[in-house]
Amino acid sequence: MTFKTIIEPFRIKSVEKIRITTESERLDYLKKAHYNPFLLHSDHVMVDLLTDSGTSAMSSAQWAGMLRGDESYAGASSWLRMEKAIQDLTGCPYVLPTHQGRAAEHLLYTRIGGAGKVFISNTHFDTTRANIEFSGATAIDCPIRENSDPALLHPFKGNLDPVKLLEKIEKYGPENVAAVVLTVTNNSGGGQPVSMENARQVSEICKKHGILFILDACRIAENAWFVKHREPGFENTTYREIAQQMFALADGCIMSAKKDALVNMGGFLALRDLDLAVQCRTVLIITEGYSTYGGLSGRDMEAIAIGLEEVFEPDYLHYRIKSTEYLAENLHTLGIPIMRPAGGHAVYIDARAFYPDIPLDQYPGQVMVCELYRLAGIRCCEIGSVMFGKYDEAGKLIPAPMDLVRLAIPRRVYTQSHIDYVIETFDFLRQEPGKTTGFKITYEPPFLRHFTARFEPLTKQ
Ligand SMILES: *Cc1c(COP(=O)(O)O)cnc(C)c1O
Repeated sequence: MTFKTIIEPFRIKSVEKIRITTESERLDYLKKAHYNPFLLHSDHVMVDLLTDSGTSAMSSAQWAGMLRGDESYAGASSWLRMEKAIQDLTGCPYVLPTHQGRAAEHLLYTRIGGAGKVFISNTHFDTTRANIEFSGATAIDCPIRENSDPALLHPFKGNLDPVKLLEKIEKYGPENVAAVVLTVTNNSGGGQPVSMENARQVSEICKKHGILFILDACRIAENAWFVKHREPGFENTTYREIAQQMFALADGCIMSAKKDALVNMGGFLALRDLDLAVQCRTVLIITEGYSTYGGLSGRDMEAIAIGLEEVFEPDYLHYRIKSTEYLAENLHTLGIPIMRPAGGHAVYIDARAFYPDIPLDQYPGQVMVCELYRLAGIRCCEIGSVMFGKYDEAGKLIPAPMDLVRLAIPRRVYTQSHIDYVIETFDFLRQEPGKTTGFKITYEPPFLRHFTARFEPLTKQ
């Protein structure tokens, strides 16, 4: 017997209330939030798909671990447990705890970056790029060509293009390449996986040219699922062993524990080189905290150690990836234009294709995000011209390459009925008359405008 239904591999011991709102209440909340879901109160949201970062539900084992948390300033047992879990997984002897991923990025990239240096990645995540550029260095993305076609099926759409990598190394000179950063899965590139073969090629190129090779390993467990099921030769390797093999190819890694460590806060930097670790540790102590806690409480470190074990459980990973795929394939069946195949942690909708009549400078992605909230109290995030748009000298919008809407799925939080509700909402949305007008921006800050921008709906002239 093979069951079609994949049950959530957990029972619910403690629940958090969702307040059911009406459409007229939601219209009012949306107006008060200036049509920017980032400005909504979470209490007014029914299904929150804004991000998978730090939104995981912890297990009873993790909560039990939190009570055991050792809050000693130095050498706490919880630190030793977390350090050992990370050493066993990554094979890196030197572990630096931080309060989240970007703090680890800051430690390493300010140390090795600076003016005249370049970093090359499949796709730099936005905080990664910001830390690199803040140091004065340049961040260059080299995803494979297939990555930019939303509808094109490819098993490892997150791969880094090795030919482009070699071209860039030649262009800038290996001595000026501070690091190659391989993001697994490729978050900004649609949550798409990276193959072991690609990681191996990148590793060989880096070794040959004496370049530091760093894994941005936030979703390494989800990536391992794709390797096991899509890459020949890994059928009998465990998810954990796949991750270990990938870590073994790199000189170190950065991880936001808010993703695949199944906790709400935390991160780390792990390195093989003692000199580099010592230099980063000095800054750690100045900016984050002593080297055996970084920015973390003992209880957080305990929960991370346990989360890093739980995330590789086959039943968990299978449910995780299959439930993302379930949402994606059902939307595809409805005829909603999505990025395919589904990534690990999110489904991306092509809002530009869904609303072909809305001009790009009226932000079709923002329209979809607001419509999903109005219809059903679903909150999600525009990844398009609101987030990445720029202006030319005449003040005209230069749109982003794509206008996507991201439905990010928190880990172990929602059940299939919540996801069915989301699918049903899209069914309603596609039956409504297509919108032809969008929004204008009435306020925006100079940087990262999507978080705080304000909008006003336009009506047809
Ligand atoms: C979330 C994330 C980061 C940054 O981690 P924070 O914990 O949010 O600071 C870095 N890289 C990738 C790929 C991420 O998804």
